[in-house]
Amino acid sequence: MTGKHYVEDFRVPPGSHTRLSDFDPDFKGRHSKEKALAKIDALREKMDDLQQKLFAERKRSLLVCLQALDAGGKDGVVKHVIGSMNPDGCRVANFKEPTQEELAHDFLWRIEAQMPKRGEIAIFNRSHYEDVLVVRVHNLVPKAVWSQRYGQINDFERRHAANGTVILKFFLHISKDEQLKRFEQRLDDPAKRWKISESDYTEREYWDDYERAYDDVLAKCNAEQAPWFVIPANHKWFRDVAISEIIVATLESMNIQVPKPTVDLEEIRRKYHSALDEDKHAKAGHRRRGHAAHR
Ligand code: AMP
Ligand code: MG
Repeated sequence: MTGKHYVEDFRVPPGSHTRLSDFDPDFKGRHSKEKALAKIDALREKMDDLQQKLFAERKRSLLVCLQALDAGGKDGVVKHVIGSMNPDGCRVANFKEPTQEELAHDFLWRIEAQMPKRGEIAIFNRSHYEDVLVVRVHNLVPKAVWSQRYGQINDFERRHAANGTVILKFFLHISKDEQLKRFEQRLDDPAKRWKISESDYTEREYWDDYERAYDDVLAKCNAEQAPWFVIPANHKWFRDVAISEIIVATLESMNIQVPKPTVDLEEIRRKYHSALDEDKHAKAGHRRRGHAAHR
């Protein structure tokens, strides 16, 4: 497994004019699916451990933004990758079509409310980027409005990064053929049918427009402190191993410090546990004598 190299392999180089079409959605590295699944298990454990440390440190937070076209696998990543962590310090926020209340505020209002607290990990299933993607593709606001948002997003992310939130942004990259295949599987699978909407199909007509909108996002909103990764996602197991690897490598690079205990542990041990130990020994003694008496 190429391991930490995924951080470099799938990082969109800042300041570049990288396009989605420069990435192969079908890429799956040199290793087998079996090896990848074993690796994912190991990474899930590490992630869980690192998240507990982040929670204990309570100084910084992590934000993971997931973006994709329909059937790109956002829900799968939430379940398979993020599901390994303790829900107590980990939160998923879904951003759907804005409500009337949300529309009555500026586009970052609902995002701000879901940002992670110190010690927390937040996962955004869709994000503020919808406001320069679907909104742009369907002219939901005038160009004069959405075109200003790239700068506003950069300011927003810069402020949060400067205040201790580490930000990772993943685009789950599938091909148009793979999308249709997944829609078909949904039709066939009674457990997944509920996800189908006609707009999934009509949105396919805007595929190229979405690609262009994503290309602009990658070019304009990809600062050092809030990087984009384009993850090959035709193979679900490869998508999961790549994202797990990047999250773990990022948490490791944060050099999280678990705080020292604020009490004298030896004192606590002497005060409360030595009495308990004596008690335990005494009880064990009773039991032994009891058994002997019965024999
Ligand atoms: P899903 O994630 O498949 O449940 O669908 C959520 C839908 O909400 C998608 O069609 C998104 O494009 C849409 N959506 C999310 N954010 C916005 C937004 N800011 N403006 C308009 N539509 C949005
Ligand atoms: Mg959908």
